[in-house]
Amino acid sequence: MNTIEHWINGTATPAGSSRTAPVHDPATGREQARVLLAEESDVDTAVAAAGKAFESWGNSSLSQRTKVMFAFRELLVRHEDELARIISAEHGKVIEDARGEIVRGREVVEYACGIADALKGSFSDQVSRDVDVHDFHQPLGVVAGITPFNFPIMVPLWMHPIAIATGNTFILKPSERDPSVSNFVARLYTEAGLPDGVFNVVHGDKTAVDAILDHPGIAAVSFVGSTPIAKYVHERGTAGGKRVQALGGAKNHAVVLPDADLEYAADHLTAAAFGSAGQRCMAISVGVAVGSAGDELVEILERKAREVKVGPGTDPASDMGPVVTEAARERVVHSVTRGAEQGATVVVDGRDLKVEGHEAGFFVGPSLLDDVTPDMDAYREEIFGPVLAIVRARTLDEAIAVINANPYGNGTAIFTGSGEAARKFQREVKVGMIGVNVPIPVPMSYYSFGGWKDSLIGDSPIHGPAGVRFYTRAKVVTTRWPHTSASAAAFTFPTSS
Ligand code: NAD
Repeated sequence: MNTIEHWINGTATPAGSSRTAPVHDPATGREQARVLLAEESDVDTAVAAAGKAFESWGNSSLSQRTKVMFAFRELLVRHEDELARIISAEHGKVIEDARGEIVRGREVVEYACGIADALKGSFSDQVSRDVDVHDFHQPLGVVAGITPFNFPIMVPLWMHPIAIATGNTFILKPSERDPSVSNFVARLYTEAGLPDGVFNVVHGDKTAVDAILDHPGIAAVSFVGSTPIAKYVHERGTAGGKRVQALGGAKNHAVVLPDADLEYAADHLTAAAFGSAGQRCMAISVGVAVGSAGDELVEILERKAREVKVGPGTDPASDMGPVVTEAARERVVHSVTRGAEQGATVVVDGRDLKVEGHEAGFFVGPSLLDDVTPDMDAYREEIFGPVLAIVRARTLDEAIAVINANPYGNGTAIFTGSGEAARKFQREVKVGMIGVNVPIPVPMSYYSFGGWKDSLIGDSPIHGPAGVRFYTRAKVVTTRWPHTSASAAAFTFPTSS
């Protein structure tokens, strides 16, 4: 059986690891590989390599870094098919969906290709007589990224292109459930001309994460995953003096007003709830049907949910693949059962779905729950599976109040024909990323991505301008070139004159 190794200092290596975890094919349920789990000493080895590489990469020219990013971008384009196959084989998502995350991640590389512009400092001439001020940004050193299973290439791409383009060296600790694509990316960086040790991959579990959080040689940590772990990572990392950005879980609501095109809204809700088997941080998991929109919306959603084709990710006919593990499948089934017990109406029940020829795969069908209330577990918990819960509200104010009372604040959307309602919604809702007739409002790479409340711990969103700020430190320089003739010491606090 294939063993997935770490990638340290430009080469695949087992380092000192002997523990392993299984990597499954979610479509068949079969174990297809084992991934090594790093010990603390393996993280030390990676930090030493990245620290050594930083001595020269931290001083490399902007042209050199940009050249690598352009080459890396071309390789991501050339290898898109292979990357999509690797992702689908371990995650389970359909190939076209895997392509989608490659493209959205590649856009961050494109942003990093323009790093010379994003890094420009400012200059003020003659702030005082013969005095000028300028600022500039320098890299932090060795930085690390800890990432979730659901976007095995895109989420790491939110981090490392910007970290590397700004002159840092990087250690990635990807999810142990779908680790292979990170090693492939490492090879592409090498082919693109990135020096050894600048990008490293250390596979592992809590042991590796804790070693990263406590390591004095790591200056900053980017984390994306569930909220409890985001809180833990933020607390432990900042206690050790690191800069930490930590993006957490989500429960994203889409409000549908009676004046919306209900067929259009239902199409988008269906795709946003069940695409990638609901395992997207920007998936719509709650529909808030306002007033008279309710009954008709649920009727259309039922029809569309029943039409979703569930099958292996490699079958071009599949709309939706399996979930990532058997435990995830059981969690989804349990959530639907609890919803029914607590009074929700199960309009579409995906619990017993079997895919012919793939009976041992981790498949579960789309479920649609109506009459869900905020006190039910199916509403309160992040199910992270293909379950759409419908909450009824009488007015837009009531819908906004439901969303604002939810502890998460990652993404939300409103479907309406009214500009007035859309404007009120975007101004009053306490959520970081908002769509108006757009169901999954993932910002472009030149904006920054991040939610509010329990969806973002700390204060730094990811990629775009916030990414450049996160991975750099500013210096402000005040300069005077005195006239050779005049000089006298002044003992009052300096002001402009
Ligand atoms: P997870 O929190 O279980 O794992 C994320 C990372 O943390 C992995 O690398 C994992 O190895 C590590 N980890 C897990 N348990 C740990 C522990 N006890 N101690 C230290 N490290 C630990 O998340 P997941 O299941 O891989 O991904 C799904 C979650 O990620 C969902 O909650 C989803 O909403 C969230 N997510 C959020 C965003 C966002 O942008 N806000 C994006 C993608 C995913």
